Amino acid sequence: MNLQQAYSAETFRQDAHKLVDTLADYLHAAQSQQFETVIPYRLPEDNLRFWQEDLQQGIGDSTALFEEIICQSNHLHHPHYMGHQVSPPLPIAALAGLLTGMLNNGMAVYEMGLVSNPLERILSDLLAEKIGFTSQSSGLLTSGGTLANLTALLSARAAKAPTDVWEDGTAGRLAVMVSEEAHYCIDRAARIMGMGSEGIIKIPTNARFQMRTELLEVHYQRAKEAGLTVIAVIGSACSTSTGSYDDLISIGDFCQQHNLWFHVDGAHGGAVVFSEKYKSLVKGIELADSVVIDWHKMLMTPALATALIFKNGEDSFQTFHQKAQYLWANQGSHEWFNSGKRTFECTKLMMSVKIYSILKTCGEGIFAENVNTLHDLAKAFVEILNVNSAFELAIEPQSNIVCFRYVGEGSSSENYNTLNATIRQRLLEEGKFYIVQTTLREKLYLRVSLMNPLTTVRDLRALLEEVEKIAKEMG
Ligand SMILES: *Cc1c(COP(=O)(O)O)cnc(C)c1O
Repeated sequence: MNLQQAYSAETFRQDAHKLVDTLADYLHAAQSQQFETVIPYRLPEDNLRFWQEDLQQGIGDSTALFEEIICQSNHLHHPHYMGHQVSPPLPIAALAGLLTGMLNNGMAVYEMGLVSNPLERILSDLLAEKIGFTSQSSGLLTSGGTLANLTALLSARAAKAPTDVWEDGTAGRLAVMVSEEAHYCIDRAARIMGMGSEGIIKIPTNARFQMRTELLEVHYQRAKEAGLTVIAVIGSACSTSTGSYDDLISIGDFCQQHNLWFHVDGAHGGAVVFSEKYKSLVKGIELADSVVIDWHKMLMTPALATALIFKNGEDSFQTFHQKAQYLWANQGSHEWFNSGKRTFECTKLMMSVKIYSILKTCGEGIFAENVNTLHDLAKAFVEILNVNSAFELAIEPQSNIVCFRYVGEGSSSENYNTLNATIRQRLLEEGKFYIVQTTLREKLYLRVSLMNPLTTVRDLRALLEEVEKIAKEMG
């Protein structure tokens, strides 16, 4: 195919119609469990060989290719998808993904994001209001919680470090304090910023894996005595392994007292700000200087789409205060509409369009409905687990993440870890359910994050039956 043909509007029309039909059939089949496997698991080398051979077969048509890709992927819309914290995207948002993929307006400068920059402003203002920030607040979208957390810590450094690290390079030894259960990207961000391992002060957690905030003071004093300058405390809302929410009020008070930056990593759980029923989980979030919330986790947007919201919008303009004359004539001024001034990325996906398409066509209530459904489902799952003596919960979950393990017939406490690891491996290979595992204080647990609102209690019962079946076959 030559360039003329490849750009042909007619070819696109035909390919796209076919793809939409294929996807609609797929969606229906996945949601109604017409195929038995949620994940067609194969070893990496086998999958690599498959695609190498596919390419060797020469040029083919898009329909066969797209069908093959669907067939070989992990099916997030299947109600037995309960694995990692990625949303089965709403179809309308996926369609907006096709739209924005075609328009490809890069966003960094206003002229390249005539639509997406205003939408980003509207969505940031909406989240700011939900968090409880005032009109001083301002936010942005960026590619993922990992990048958003790094960006927030760079803002924290610009605001709180005793010297201008951006201009003069690192001086002194900076540090942040964070719970030992925090997402690994916080550790990574601190190391990228040159803090080294001594600069990441891990605060122990309690029996529910929440930061022991009463220990902040002693760790803070110890750091000072060791010559470190603590610039920020990061609260997890919630943690990744167990979905535990830190006490944000205590952390907020502590930060105020010591003039530290308070960052809330709400990549997963920050979404509860939309829910009247569950927003008390993030009480105190309004004390934060910056908050990260992933739209692609509990808010049904295709990845990646992450909000970073600042209590004081001015802070967001200090993060990357370098000059790029060819991009922005008016470098010094704080323009919300040139989004690249405040983001790590230069060219950026039109992620605001995907989110806005949900807001506009479904209404804001759908976000609360999803959060409530997923949390309620976790509570129902806990009830089932509590009355089945073959299973043990790690903790009473606060969110839609549930960690549990098989401790039933034929097993003994010496081999629970191996047993549960083997069960999870068997589940993966069978592919009928997709769940993951995590190790907490040396105990290995099966881990379910309920991301698909079409999962029902029946599906959860079926999961437990499958686990028991595998365990008995092994015994
Ligand atoms: C998922 C998650 C992250 C990482 O976000 P990505 O969007 O995957 O980069 C960071 N922190 C927490 C608490 C998370 O749950």
